[in-house]
Amino acid sequence: MKVILDSQKLNNEVKKIKSSKGTIGFVPTMGALHQGHLSLIKQAVKDNDKAVVSIFVNPAQFGPKEDLKKYPRFLKKDFALCRKAGVDLVFVPDTKSMYPEGYSTFVEVKELADKLCGACRPGHFRGVATIVAKLLNLVEPDVLYLGQKDAQQAIIIIRMIKDLNFPVKVKIMPTVREKDGLALSSRNIYLNREQRKIAPVLSEALSFAKLLIDNGQRDAVRIISQMKRLINRKKFAKIDYVSIVDLEKLENLKKINKKCLIALAVKIGKTRLIDNAIISYA
Ligand code: AMP
Repeated sequence: MKVILDSQKLNNEVKKIKSSKGTIGFVPTMGALHQGHLSLIKQAVKDNDKAVVSIFVNPAQFGPKEDLKKYPRFLKKDFALCRKAGVDLVFVPDTKSMYPEGYSTFVEVKELADKLCGACRPGHFRGVATIVAKLLNLVEPDVLYLGQKDAQQAIIIIRMIKDLNFPVKVKIMPTVREKDGLALSSRNIYLNREQRKIAPVLSEALSFAKLLIDNGQRDAVRIISQMKRLINRKKFAKIDYVSIVDLEKLENLKKINKKCLIALAVKIGKTRLIDNAIISYA
């Protein structure tokens, strides 16, 4: 496994792979890797001749009051996990090389980026779309691997790929969870013991919504208010949003009469967690 810090060197490696007609699977991450990331990475290794992972805590997707500085960084452990999983190249650029002085170009995916998490985190998806576009240009992958855990992010990136004609396929991998349902996230380590006990409330609320839908409830407003009631019973839990939206435009649905996304963000203490479920309407 090669660790590459420099985009020129990365490009040389990519050229070598391309000249031997090898396929590239790519997993962009912010590091502090866990089994969720690893499910994407293992799939990329399995499907392709070469697997590339990027580790970059992207300042452009953090708001001024967010956790950029204290975001967990465990590079040595991440490298060991990547090596064990069979990764070929790990790209670890520094901030200056990705955003040198005078950097001025950003990718905005209109409409989709203002909904759900975008409403609570202005500019977040502009930062995400920009870094993913840059990484796609550098890595030139055949397949990009993304997690269902960040459903809105995946929908926005798919839109950008289509709109900007990036020649890459996208594979979405299911959310990996702890035994009690909590979706794995690099931010889970911020939770203290008491908060960790409460954190599965996001997946509990999603399961509850599915149960209501299975039992015939189709009124989205009612489902949301019951989910909120369940969450608000927990100490430390503060809801950012609970929404039921269509999968194309992420617009709120009144009635569940087509495939939809139930998405929520809840602060447990100071830690903001997200989760979602796709409901295949039957
Ligand atoms: P991040 O390091 O948080 O930027 O995540 C990098 C990639 O891993 C994104 O495509 C995420 O959606 C994906 N990911 C993060 N957590 C999980 C999880 N629990 N299950 C599956 N994929 C995940």
